[in-house]
Parts: sequence; structure tokens; C-alpha cells
Amino acid sequence: MSRIIGIDLGTTNSLAATVDSGIPLVIADASGRRLTPSVVHVPDGEGSILAGLPAAHLRVTQPEQTVYSIKRFMGRRGVDVPDAERRLMYRVEGTGAGPVAVRIGDRAWAPEEISACILRKLKADAEASFNEPVTRAVITVPAYFNDAQRNATKKAGELAGLTVERILNEPTAAALAYGLDRLQDRARVAVYDLGGGTFDLSILELNEGVFQVLATSGNTCLGGDDIDRSVSEFLLERIQESGGPRITIPERRGEYPLDQHALAMLARVREAAEQAKIALSTMEATEIVLPFLAPGFSFQYRLTRTELETMARAVVQRTRPHCLRALADARLQPHELDQVILVGGQTRMPLVRAFVADLFGCADFEETRGQLRLGTEHHRPAGPQLNTSQNPDEAVALGAAIQAEILSGGLRNVLLLDVTPLSLGLETFGGLMNVLIPRNSTIPIKAGEKFTTAMDYQREMLIHVLQGERERAADNWSLGKFTIDFEPAPRGVARVGVQFEIDADGILHVLARDTLTGVEKVVEIKSAVNVDDAAVQQMVDESVTHAFEDLAARRWIEARLKSMEILAAARKSLTECGTQVIPEVREKIEAAMVQVEQALVEDPNTKIGDLAQLQTATGALDHASLPVAELLLDRAMEALLRQRGIVLTPVTE
Ligand code: ADP
Ligand code: MG
Repeated sequence: MSRIIGIDLGTTNSLAATVDSGIPLVIADASGRRLTPSVVHVPDGEGSILAGLPAAHLRVTQPEQTVYSIKRFMGRRGVDVPDAERRLMYRVEGTGAGPVAVRIGDRAWAPEEISACILRKLKADAEASFNEPVTRAVITVPAYFNDAQRNATKKAGELAGLTVERILNEPTAAALAYGLDRLQDRARVAVYDLGGGTFDLSILELNEGVFQVLATSGNTCLGGDDIDRSVSEFLLERIQESGGPRITIPERRGEYPLDQHALAMLARVREAAEQAKIALSTMEATEIVLPFLAPGFSFQYRLTRTELETMARAVVQRTRPHCLRALADARLQPHELDQVILVGGQTRMPLVRAFVADLFGCADFEETRGQLRLGTEHHRPAGPQLNTSQNPDEAVALGAAIQAEILSGGLRNVLLLDVTPLSLGLETFGGLMNVLIPRNSTIPIKAGEKFTTAMDYQREMLIHVLQGERERAADNWSLGKFTIDFEPAPRGVARVGVQFEIDADGILHVLARDTLTGVEKVVEIKSAVNVDDAAVQQMVDESVTHAFEDLAARRWIEARLKSMEILAAARKSLTECGTQVIPEVREKIEAAMVQVEQALVEDPNTKIGDLAQLQTATGALDHASLPVAELLLDRAMEALLRQRGIVLTPVTE
């Protein structure tokens, strides 16, 4: 079997890793670089596409052809991407239910095509390093990625010539890299991931090698870039003060056109700002030197850690509500956590570490730095341990490599479990939600149910896949619709078996089969509903708020369906043998039918009628039609026997 590599396809940086003789290692490129900037440059005309560092160098000077942060757009529809997230230097297209695309020159690029360029580079670096072809990979995604986003990631892998063996959650990968699967006791871990452009806080529970995501919260537009920007603005002010040109940073494409000199200057200032920020993670002060920044102007400034922290504090503070939110969702207090692990390059900043230690009440932060404390043989302080033993920007890729090695059978066996954030089900006749996989089910999972047709000689059945916690189909999110055809048969005879399967990657496969003919259809649901944390919470909250009316709606719809069925049967029997019963019976049935019809009237606002009245009227109709029903039954029986050559003769003593 060929080797499987682990890939962290990041918003800012991507990297690949492998396990070599039991040791997880990051794969470096030809020049020894371990991180590949997630940037792709598409040149005008002939030249070839660049990915990684050479592309990153062109980000400021050729903004319209240089794509960064593409991960934000993976698997998302126009409506899912608010204006604030489109504030980029390249052109982003896509509205409504249409997919988001990047326009470069006369070609629209799907996000997965751009990501594929980054993956191709990582694949090539790995091949050069092993001197053998690489075709299989485990790729990580944020825990909150929905089906569509996971599918797009998988697609990107395929476009790059990789078979994606597993899509793995980033916090789970990080926990694997930290070796937390080896903890003996049940442990709860918070994963604090602050990257270049995104922040995620996930809470995991580990139990004998089983990982479960308890809660996740974050911000897709918050990270180290925001700090770089503040530092750049600060430097631009100092530049102007010391007699240099006045330049401000444009927020979005074409905000105000800058000439090539200004763009080049901005690029240098931004790079210097990031480098200074990185240097100040280990030093107290750093000298920023920018010779010949503008014609006849050179710039020099000594930036201190204190100055940087003053600028960075506001950014770091913004992670706070998300941490509290995830804790609340997991119903945990900080002291109930065993560890907090740090992920993402930006967590190397001492200010971030101190902030996290303070927020989670990590009592022994200084002492335990760099060591992994296992079990309970040590005195356990009140708060969780802040574990910083791994390289924060490499942990996710290393964890992916460990998972890859597990898949190829090379390592200890760990089970990785995730849960479904919301219930999945189907719309049934009458507009109700029929849940097949309840919320919080552990994946992978399979569940099935049989459905019958609601109408006579129905030729097809609509399979409408829903996600959510409400009783009425319309109040849930629609994930997709398809129809399955079958041999027409009387109502209730044709049967369709529907199976939902959520695979280990969290992708939903829906199978519908006509049980008579065996004809089946399998549909992979590419959900375009963004299941972000806040939306999940809102859905759950609403289901609680509306629990009472939802239940009333379900009972009403079910009663209404039953009444309509009885009404239709009564009508049918009257047309078929209404003349054979005495007029009194007939009139009684007709009167009862009118009563049911009246009781079926709904309040136009609530779409609910008087349940008790409907039940009484339906009961009365059922009772009144008994004589006709019996008559019909007898006739049907006779016909059947006659068909089989049996003639009934009255029994005589
Ligand atoms: P992502 O997950 O978004 O791809 P990374 O985990 O690679 O991102 O983090 C990138 C961010 O980390 C950048 O903003 C970078 O400037 C920052 N960073 C990297 N190293 C350091 C460091 N030593 N100190 C402070 N910030 C750092
Ligand atoms: Mg990351």
C-alpha cells in the first residue's frame, strides 16, 4: 500500500506531514521551508500558476491575480458570504444560491480549484522528499465545516490527484499530535486555535482513545492578520511623522487605486510588521529597518514588545466571548477542563498565552510549560493545564499524519468520533419532519426507515432531506431534494426504503430504494446551509421556545391526515354502493362528512384548527360509515373468492 500523508489546508498556511518510523514529521520543500503560504497567483497571459511563497510575494503588488484566504469560500453559496467577508483585494463573485467564485481576468475559479493548486504543491514537495509518487491523503477541516465545505475540500484533493482517505477535524488532529489519545482517564480538553485569519475554540472529550467534539465556537475573520494590520498602520503613521509619504491601507479591491510604488511600499511595511511581531514573541524589542522605502527616504524604528502588546490586546480580547460560548455550550466551567492546548502560529505570542492562561484559570502555567502531565500522580491544581509542548503551527498537520498512519494500520488504534450538530430527517406527507438521525448522534452512523405512498398510483416520491429541530418541515433547513420513481401501485402498496448514512468524514449519503423493484438512488448531500455555531444554537433555542406550538402542529397535522383519509374512504364507498344502503344510513354519513369538512378548517395564521372537534367529527364519520364499509368488504370478499373459483353457498342446517 502506498503512503498516506497528512495535510493541514490552512487559511493562511498549509503544510504536509508524515509518520516516519513511528515519528510524525513535517515535510519540508526543496528550500527547507515547512510552511506553505496558502496563496495562489494566476498570471496574465502565458506564465504558469504559482502557489506558496512565490505567490505570497505578489500579494500586494498584483492583488487582483493573487488569491489568499480561499478557505473562507470553500463550499459556500453567495448568500452564505456576507459583505464583510468579501473585503479582499481580489474579485469575489456569486450571489444567492449560486456558488462563490474568484474572478481572475476572464476566468471564474471555483474555490476548490484554487485550493487544489496549493495541494498540488504540497503533493509535489512530498513526492520529492520521498522520491516516490504520493496519491493518498488525510486533510483537516475546522470542526464547524458543514457537508458542503467538507465535500469541497475533498474535491480539491481529487483535483490535485489525491485520494482523500479521511476528512479530519482540526482540533481532533491537534489533540492527536499532543498525544492526548493516550490519556488514561476521561479527559476534557479545550483547543484554542488562533491562526492568521481565523479563530476557533473547540472542546473535546477523550475517553479511552475515543474523541468527541462537545462544542465549537469561533470567528472566521479574526487572527494574526488583524495584529499585522494594526502594526502596519502604526508604522505608516511613524513613516509619515518622520517625513515619509502618507499612505493608508485600502480595505477592499479598488477602494482607492494605489500606484505601483505605493503598493510596493505597503508590501514591505506589511512584511516588516509581521516579522517584527514574530520577533517580539521571543525578544523584548526589535529594530525595523526599511532602507529606500520611498525615493530619498529610509525608515528605521525600534518596536518594543510593550508597544506591540498595546496594539494586539484588542484583537486577542475578541477571542474571549467565543471561549465562554463554547464552555457554556459544553456545559462546563473552566476548572472542569483537564488541559488547554494551543494551536495556530499566533498562539506563540506570549500575550496570547498569558491571556489564555488567565481566561481558563490555568494555575500552573509557568511551571508546566513544555511538559505533558499524564494521569493523576501529580497534585492537580484547580485549573486546567496549559499545554504548549507542541509546535502550534504544525500540530494539526502532525495529527493528520498520525491519523493517516492509523488508517494504513501502522499505529495504535484510535477511534475518532464526532457528533451531528443537528437532527437529520425527511419531509413526510403533510409537511412534517421525520427524524432519521437525531441531533448529537455519534458519527459514523447509519439509519433507515420505510415509507409508503400517500396517493393511489403515485409514480414518484419526493425525498426532501431536512436538518433541524423543528416539527414542521418548513421550519427546518432544506439540504436537498430528489425524486425516486417506482412502479405505480395503489396507495400504501409501494414502499420506499430510505437510508441516511453519515460517513466518518461527516458527509451525508442518502439512499432511497423501491423495495418492490429494487431500483435505488444514492445521493450525496452537498449541503449549502452553513452550520455555524450560532445557527445551530439558534435552531436549538427556537425548538425549545416553540416546543409547545410545534407539538400542537404535529398533532393537528397527523389528525388532519387521518381525517382526510377517512373522508376520502367514505366518499368512495358512497359512490360505489351508496344506492344499496337505506337512505337513513346514507344521510347520516353525508351529515357526518359535512361535520368533518367543517372541523378541518384551520386558523389562517397558526395553520392549526380545533383538534378535539376534528377528532369527534372523524370518530362520528367512522362510526356512521360502518354499514357501508361492511357491505364493501363483503363484496370484495365475494369477488376475490369468485376469482379463485370458490362459490359461497348459504349454509343450511
Ligand atoms: P492558519 O491556521 O490560518 O493557516 P497559522 O496557524 O499558520 O494560520 O498561523 C499564522 C499566523 O501566525 C500568522 O498571523 C503569523 O504571523 C502568526 N505567527 C507565526 N509565527 C508566529 C510567532 N512566532 N509569533 C507570533 N505570531 C506568529
Ligand atoms: Mg490552522
